[in-house]
Formats: sequence, C-alpha cells, structure tokens
Amino acid sequence: MTAARKIAVNPTTDDSMAGRTMADILTGTQDPAWIFAVDGFEPMMESSIESRFAISNGFLGVRAARSTTRGERCVVPARTYVAGLFDSPTARQATQALVPAASWLGNRIVLPGGPLVRHPGDVPLHRMTLDMERGVLLGESDHLSTPDIGLCVRSLRLVSLSERALGLQLIQWDVEHGEVDVTFEATTDGREFGLATDRLDQDLGLWHTRYSEKRLALAVLCSLQVDGRTVQPIALSPLKWSWQWKTRPGQLASFERFVALVRTDSLELDPEPQARDKLAFAQRTGWRGVVTAHEAAWKSRWQCSDVTIAGDDDAQHALRFAAYHLNSAANPADQRVSIGARALTGDDYHGHVFWDTEIFLLPFFTLTWPEAARSLLMYRYHTLAGAREKAAAMGWRGALYAWESAATGAEVSPEQLIGPDRKLVAVLCGRQEQHISADIAYAVWQYWQATEDDDFLLQAGAEILLETARFWASRARLEADGQCHIRGVIGPDEYHEDIDDNAYTNVMARWNIHRALDIAALLRERWPVRWKVLAVDLGLSDSELAEWRKVAATMKTGFDPKTGLFEQFSGYFQLEDIDLKNFAGRSVPMDVVLGRERTQHSQVVKQPDVVALLGLLPEEFGGDTAIKNFRYYEARCGHGSSLSPAMHGMVAARLGDSATALRFFHQAAAIDLSDTRVGSAGGIHIAALGGIWMLSVLGCAGVSLRSDGLAIDPQLPTGWNSVAFSVQWRGRRIKISIDRTERRLHATLEAGEPMMLFVGGKPNRLASTAASLPIAW
Ligand code: BGC
Repeated sequence: MTAARKIAVNPTTDDSMAGRTMADILTGTQDPAWIFAVDGFEPMMESSIESRFAISNGFLGVRAARSTTRGERCVVPARTYVAGLFDSPTARQATQALVPAASWLGNRIVLPGGPLVRHPGDVPLHRMTLDMERGVLLGESDHLSTPDIGLCVRSLRLVSLSERALGLQLIQWDVEHGEVDVTFEATTDGREFGLATDRLDQDLGLWHTRYSEKRLALAVLCSLQVDGRTVQPIALSPLKWSWQWKTRPGQLASFERFVALVRTDSLELDPEPQARDKLAFAQRTGWRGVVTAHEAAWKSRWQCSDVTIAGDDDAQHALRFAAYHLNSAANPADQRVSIGARALTGDDYHGHVFWDTEIFLLPFFTLTWPEAARSLLMYRYHTLAGAREKAAAMGWRGALYAWESAATGAEVSPEQLIGPDRKLVAVLCGRQEQHISADIAYAVWQYWQATEDDDFLLQAGAEILLETARFWASRARLEADGQCHIRGVIGPDEYHEDIDDNAYTNVMARWNIHRALDIAALLRERWPVRWKVLAVDLGLSDSELAEWRKVAATMKTGFDPKTGLFEQFSGYFQLEDIDLKNFAGRSVPMDVVLGRERTQHSQVVKQPDVVALLGLLPEEFGGDTAIKNFRYYEARCGHGSSLSPAMHGMVAARLGDSATALRFFHQAAAIDLSDTRVGSAGGIHIAALGGIWMLSVLGCAGVSLRSDGLAIDPQLPTGWNSVAFSVQWRGRRIKISIDRTERRLHATLEAGEPMMLFVGGKPNRLASTAASLPIAW
C-alpha cells in the first residue's frame, strides 16, 4: 500500500527575516502583480472589498473590515469565521449555517475629547493592501490628525498558515505632532454572533453552539510598547484592555495581539487547554517568529501553485488572486470540513458545501496540493452516513450526497427562497439535484489517478465509488423501451426543474457505475482481503455488480447520432428557442428578464450542463460532436451562475478556440474583481476562482491526466506570450513553461522519479535534466 507521496517544498525559513523590524514587516511589496490595494472609504464597495481582501487559512477566515478606525458609531466588525462551526437556528431546523466567531481585531484611540476616529469615512488617506505573496492584510493611514495630535498608523493582520489556530494583529503609530494623553483600547467584539457563552475571562472566551454540540475557545494576549518600553494595561472587562500614555512628537508606539482559536466537535471536549497551548506557543515564538513561519508557509504554497503569464498583466493579477484565495481556503489537517461556496470570506450560502468543491476546486488541489485534496475528499467519506440516510429516506440504495452539506452530511438545502419578484419559491435542488453523487465520485477518481494514493482508495475512495454507483443503479429504472431512465432531477442548469434524463446526470451516473466496477475488479485482484471485507460490509454480491453492468449498458444518454448533439434532457429541443443576442447588455440574469415560467419553457440554460459534461468527460464526445455541442449550448447559456464562464472557457480552450477562452477568462475574473460589481459582498466566488485556474492550466496549457503519464496540449491565447506553472503527479513535481513565440515547452522534473510526458500526443521520458520540447499549434 502506498500513501500519497509527499513532496518537500522548502518549508525552511529565511534567516534574513530575523533582523526585520516591525516597520519592515508592516510595509508591503511594491510589485503590482502581487498586491491589491484600495484607497479611501467607499460605502457602496466596502462589503465587496471586505470579501476580496479577506485573509484565511482554511480554519480561520477574517473579512477585511477596518479595525483601527472604529469610533463611537458601530461599524460592522471584521467578521471571523471558523471552519466547521455550524449551528441550526432552532432545535427542529435542519438547516445549519456557519456561525461567525467573536471579532478579535477591534480597537480605537481615545483622546481627552472623544475617539480620534468616529467613522471610517473620517480617515483621510487610508490605504488597505492585500499582499498575496505574504498572505497578509496591511493598513496605512497617514496624517491621521486633529489640532491636538497627528499620527501615521500602519497595521498588519494575518491568520497563520503554519499554525492555523493563530491570528496576529500588529499596529504601529508614529506620532507626527502633539503632546496629549491618549487611551488605546483593544476589544474582542462578540455582539454580532450567535453562540452561547460559557465563560468570559480577561484573556479567554468560551462558547458553544446551541444545537450542534460544538465548542469554541478564544485565548488572547495583547501588549503595547511605547518607544520600546512596555506599558501596563488596564483590564477593562473580559477580553478588553486599555493603555494610557502621553504622546510626544517622534514617538513610536507598537501594539501586538495574538489570538488562538480552537473548535471541538463535542460538548465533552474542552477546547480551552489547546487554545492556551497554542497561545503560549505564539508567545514563545513572538510576532517576528509567527510572521516568519507564516510567510515561509505561503512561500511553499506559491512554489507549488503560482501560475505566471507573460504578456497579459490583468490575467496575471487575476490568477494570483485566484490562487491566493484557493490556497487560503483549504486545511489539510481537518478532514471534518470542506470549502463552502464563498469559502471563509462571507455569509452567502451559509458556509454550505456544493459540487463546487469537487468539480471546480479539486483539480487545483489535486494537482498542486494533494494533501488538501485528500482532506476534502475525506470530508465526503466522513459524511457518507448522511448520504446513505438521504438515499434511504427517498427510497433508494447507496449514497445520495446532500446537495448542500454542512457538518454532518445531512441535506441542508433550503426548501424555499425569496425569488426576484419578492415571492416565495420552492427550491427543489435538495431533493432533485442528484448529480452531486457522481461529481464526488469523479473527484475521488481523479485524485486517485493523479496521486496513486492507494491508502486513500482502500480506506475511503473505493467505498465512495461503490456506494454512489449503487445509488445510481437503484435510481435508474428500466422501462418498456429497453433503456434505463432517471426521471425527476435537476441538472447543473437549475433553470429547468423536475426533468427526465438529464444528459449530464445520466452520463456521469453511467461513468460512476463503470468506475465502481473497475475498482471492484481491481480490489478483487490486488487487494482480495480488503475486497472481501468491503463486500461483506456493504453487502455487495456478484449478482448486484452484474445488475449495475446492465444499468450502465442501457442508460439513456440523450445522444442523437444524426445531429451529433446530446439533448440536455427529454423534451429540451421542443422548448422555445430564444436568441440571447437580443438581450446583450442586460444587467440582470435571464430568468429575471424572461420571468421564471418562460425561462423554464425555453432552451435558455443557467450554466454549462452538456458543456460541463464535455469539460469533465471529453471522451464521450467523438469526432466533431464536441464542437457541435459546445456551439449549440454556448449560444443558449445565460451565465446565470458564477460557475459558468470559466467552465465554458476551459472547454473552448481545449477545442482550440483560445479567443473565446480568453473572453471567458476575463468574464470569470470580473466576477470578483470588477470595480463596477458589488456582487462579492457575501463572499468571494471560490468556484469561479478554481475555474480560472482550470481554464488556464487544464484549458489553455492543456494539462490532462493519463493512466501512463501527464498530457499537455497547449492552446495559449493571443497575448499570453508564455505561461509557467507547476503540477504534482504521483509523487513528482513538474515545472512547465510554455513559450508561445518559440513554440516550445520546457519541462523540469523538480522532484520524484522519471515519468512520461505527452506533448501534443508525442511521448517523452522526463528525467532529472530539463527538457525542451517543440509544440505544434
Ligand atoms: C449554482 C450552483 C452552485 C451554487 C453555489 C448556484 O447558483 O447554480 O451550481 O453550486 O450556486 O455556488
């Protein structure tokens, strides 16, 4: 048995960091490709900026609300999310939501006449910089002054990537003028959040969720120095301190705050000792050590996941932003959580986990951070019981995963929502959007193919594949026409509900059954003991496997050999065909323009459905059917989901249409980055960001997995003069650089055994020396 082979990626720290002053650390890089900066205070944009500039480490996520500018008037504090901290609103409500934890960054300066800043908008020249290379958020306010005092303020916040329980805040004030008595207050603000308080001490808060049996501890340590001398704090109330001193021109005051947060998943488990230990570790390490280790961890991540593009600065910036948030979203050490649709950057979708993770995020993690990919898939293994219960409750066998999943794997999709016309509409996704089971099986298979992590396969992956296949075999019904049908579903295109034989669902289900049969055969041959145990545990007999084979062989796919098109679902081609070109320039989704009913009776699709199938299983589209299906469905897609443009772009690139791919790249990037859009208020769209990476690496660079190596078929768009990135494959790390003008590909095997690299279909043996290979396109 082999576990996923780990590749060392230089976690060493750089000695040159040891002598850095706090001022050095509070200064960001000047390289525009690594930063996002915003000046001033734009009330209409603040919420979106809070999401975009959020910092996270997969366990803690903190929105980028300002902390140093809070005055008397309450401004929403910087929300902190803790992965997995889900609770239900009432004892009877199944719908769990992520509960924000206490906001630990609050602070203010009080002068004899009142707070220095009453509202963030009062601060002239405030600049906030997200330094993606270092994973820190920096703040800078110059000339923050009243007639009595003038200050320059610099700040930094981070949640540590090397010790995920830890958060750090540093603030430094340069006194420009003024000799006044100032008070500085540091608070932890629990007003906004919905946990029950167990205990609040000066340096520790303990809470529990009301219904889901989780506990949370937050331990804090703060200190303040003025011109190098420690000032003793006054304890004001639990988790709140203040310091007083007299300023003088040229004075330098520095504040540091460490927090350690720990979640436990049972009321029996006390998180306090661990929170105290983590805090003691931070105290021993000191802020310089914590920053240094965090930066080193980010350096390792960038080494594995940075994609550089020469020739298109906007694309470069967007890809860095995507990789920054993707690396921020995962935590390989916690198998009990996955990544919600807005990661840990906002409240939209309540932290719920969708197919977004397996289809749009797993490719990035599998190929750049397999340890994180494994953990995300283990979350699905630990929630298999919930999936079995859901299938059984609906009268089927095997595992039907929750369309929206939280802590336990039980279905947490809402049953109703407020529609665009402000009326309640029933939401059928929780019952009918069943392709999620095949999507998870797909990600399991891809992970195993890319890593050869047999331990994972034997411990968890095989069971997921078998139980999801069993679901499909029980779900599909053989009918009088001799074909198996899956009726009453929703495909990825959610504009059409309660449909029969969705091509995406049926073909993915058939694929799921085939892979489960492959795994059953492989286990029987290579690991007969494990197979025996699994077959007994799952009650799997040879006759059941034979039944699966029949279902797969007779599954209706909707493919018409005469036209070369898949019909998205039965009856789709009879629906009203609406020319979307007539609606170019609209600012609202097509279902709002047309109304729900007319949309349902039209061929307008919300997001790729047959096109998504083409993205995932290109081998199902022989000859010219790939391009035919793409052209047909792309023309009918209203892109009503943030997942839509990137998937279209990836498919377009693979079909050789790099101009269309580039158009979709910029459309996908604009979802979170356009200054005219404020749609990121509830959090960044992590699937669109994963999609941007897929579009670039799997689409434009053309990377795909083979059973005997990696394949690369580049289709770089005009303007992308070269693209360089790293991927991991079965214990190797390979650095690829594609040069468009030279028409060459440079490949370096940075770690691991020799392997096969297929460039444009031609096999090359990649060994320790770098290879320079011609590419034809
Ligand atoms: C999309 C789904 C997606 C969900 C969460 C919906 O609007 O249609 O495909 O899973 O958002 O991102």
